Amino acid sequence: MAVATLKTWKSGAWAVALLLLLLLFALHFLSGAVLKSEELSRWFIPLLVFIVIGLVALSIVVTLNLARLLRDYRRNEAGARLMARMVMMFVLLGIAPAGIVYYYSLQFLMQGIDSWFNVQIDSAMVDALELNQATLNMNKRLLLRYSEQMLENIDDSSQTALTLALSDLRARSGATEVALATPQGEILASSHINPEVLVPNAPDPLILQQVVSGKNYVQFMSYGESGELYIRTLVADLSRGLIFQAIFPTSERISELSENVQSAYAAYRQRAYLRESIKFSFILALSLVLLVSVFAAVWAAFYTSRRMVAPIQAIAEGTRAIADGELDGQIPVPRYHGELGFLVASFNAMTRRLAQARDVAEQSKQELEFQREYLEAVLHHLSTGVVAVDANGNLRTANRAAEQILDADVARYVGRPFVQLAKDYPELEAFVGLLACTMETGEQDRRKELVLNRPKGRQFLICGYTRLKVVKSSEIGCVVVFDDVTTLIKAQRDAAWGEVARRLAHEIKNPLTPIQLSAERLRRKYLDKLPEDDRKVLDSATRTIVNQVEAMKSMVNAFSDYAKPSHLNAQPLLADEFVADVLALYGGSLEFEPGASGVMVEVDPVRFRQVVHNLIKNAQEAQQDAEKSEIRVSTGVYQPRDQEALFLEIVVEDNGSGFQEEDAEQLFEPYVTRKEKGTGLGLAIVKKIVEEHGGSIRAENRAQGGARFILRLPAKYAQVTEGARGL
Ligand code: ADP
Repeated sequence: MAVATLKTWKSGAWAVALLLLLLLFALHFLSGAVLKSEELSRWFIPLLVFIVIGLVALSIVVTLNLARLLRDYRRNEAGARLMARMVMMFVLLGIAPAGIVYYYSLQFLMQGIDSWFNVQIDSAMVDALELNQATLNMNKRLLLRYSEQMLENIDDSSQTALTLALSDLRARSGATEVALATPQGEILASSHINPEVLVPNAPDPLILQQVVSGKNYVQFMSYGESGELYIRTLVADLSRGLIFQAIFPTSERISELSENVQSAYAAYRQRAYLRESIKFSFILALSLVLLVSVFAAVWAAFYTSRRMVAPIQAIAEGTRAIADGELDGQIPVPRYHGELGFLVASFNAMTRRLAQARDVAEQSKQELEFQREYLEAVLHHLSTGVVAVDANGNLRTANRAAEQILDADVARYVGRPFVQLAKDYPELEAFVGLLACTMETGEQDRRKELVLNRPKGRQFLICGYTRLKVVKSSEIGCVVVFDDVTTLIKAQRDAAWGEVARRLAHEIKNPLTPIQLSAERLRRKYLDKLPEDDRKVLDSATRTIVNQVEAMKSMVNAFSDYAKPSHLNAQPLLADEFVADVLALYGGSLEFEPGASGVMVEVDPVRFRQVVHNLIKNAQEAQQDAEKSEIRVSTGVYQPRDQEALFLEIVVEDNGSGFQEEDAEQLFEPYVTRKEKGTGLGLAIVKKIVEEHGGSIRAENRAQGGARFILRLPAKYAQVTEGARGL
């Protein structure tokens, strides 16, 4: 801002400087006019008007500057106080000497003008004038007397003799022209210094009359082409009837001096008359000079102060900008202020360094931010749960996987004590407690398997706790990394059970057939041969053996089904048609509601038949106590929200006893059965086959009684041209 102000100020300064120059010229001419040069006097008023206008303009400029300074001062703008002080100092330094000079000049001027007009000069002038007059009068009288003597010496003779005598007289007397005439004015003879002039200069008839009346005449006259001053004498000798006229040239020096004296006197009188107005003009001129000097001094004070203060102001503004965090501005270095220039350059260097430091800090901040985001992204995409707690037990970080695994809104607890989580989610108490325990015991690393009792069943977690330390071993908290291994553990258990089943099947199945055959042979061979009592015993014993072996065979078959390695022979099948085919075997004993027309699944028909059979068999068994059997199978389409995947949903419902709630979680595990002769493998096989097909199954008790099994298989809509077929 200060720089812009300085620029406008500079452009304005040229205009003011030009105005001052013009005013100085005008003052110079005005002083000339006051000192009475006729030509310049005519310019007095226009010059005065110009100067007054210039002064008004200057006063406006000064007032504007003053107003601005006052405004800046009141607003406490940077540099305003310094500038005010500098302006005051400059103005005092400029005005004080000018005022003193003005005062004494005025005194000298007044006294000087008064001394011009003192009494001695006045009387001296009058005396000089009288002296001049007296000298001239004496000269006139002498010439008159000389003319009278010349007339007495003229004899009455002939015309020719007269002319000669006159020529002689004129030559001796030094007159320019002499003439002799009658009282009536008739020229008798004449002689002129110039022989070509034949007619003498005739006097005025009044003068002639005065001379005829006996009064001789002598007076100045202007004569000739140049109008020089001459003395004319006219004398009369009335007894002889003659009038003599002589014209004498005056001395050049005398006439010049007398003229000078006269004009000097006239000028002096005029000045004496104009004394007060001259005084006034001088005072006016001097006052105008003083005013112009004062305004020039004040303006120069403003100009100089502003130029000197501008860099300081710029530094002050720059400092304020730095305080506000703006580090990109640079202050222009002033050219002519050595120390100030150095100061500004140093300030600029400091600002640059600060800006560099800020950039570096900004860069490291960005890097840190990037690192943080990077870490966050890594944590976010980890399938392992990560929870970090600070030294005070407050939660610092929890990633998305942690929320998913713990099935709790963990992020909500960031910044709060982690134990709060256990209060809101009691089933997570073991997890939270272990962390608190690790913090307290001071163990460095700890691995632990946790089993949480969640509403949806038991959850197995493998947790790794690590205490976090930074340099100089200051404790900053603890981090827990954990994985949900529920599925893995279940899969391991399933695999183990599968192995048991396979071995059982292998070990048991082989001797079963010989046992059965042996029992049947015993029966055939000895039943008819034995007495009645023994026959009954043998009959019942062999029947039991055969039945139990049958039962064991079916159990072993179930085992081997469960343990059978999966070799899927999947085919594209139209879902509704396929389910309808399977259900056809049960005749009208159950209800089928197809709801997935056009949906196609890829399944192994043989193995999938077993799935449906197992579910229906279970439903039938559960309904043995029911009055009226109601088994309902329905198909439908399920599409998760925001996903393109499509699933075929098969629901098998019955109105039987339903299963016990505590079994819900384990229904699909092998050897879980509530039936006397049950193997507990039916649902395990169902689950195995469904999962082999990429599907899922869950069970729930119906509100109105009975159980519901919901099975989902990946599906797609059949293309019209595709040769899908039902089973
Ligand atoms: P099994 O039929 O040999 O008992 P399953 O694995 O088929 O073995 O069934 C396990 C258990 O699940 C059964 O013992 C029974 O208690 C329960 N169950 C299965 N299906 C139903 C059903 N539709 N209604 C009620 N309980 C059922």
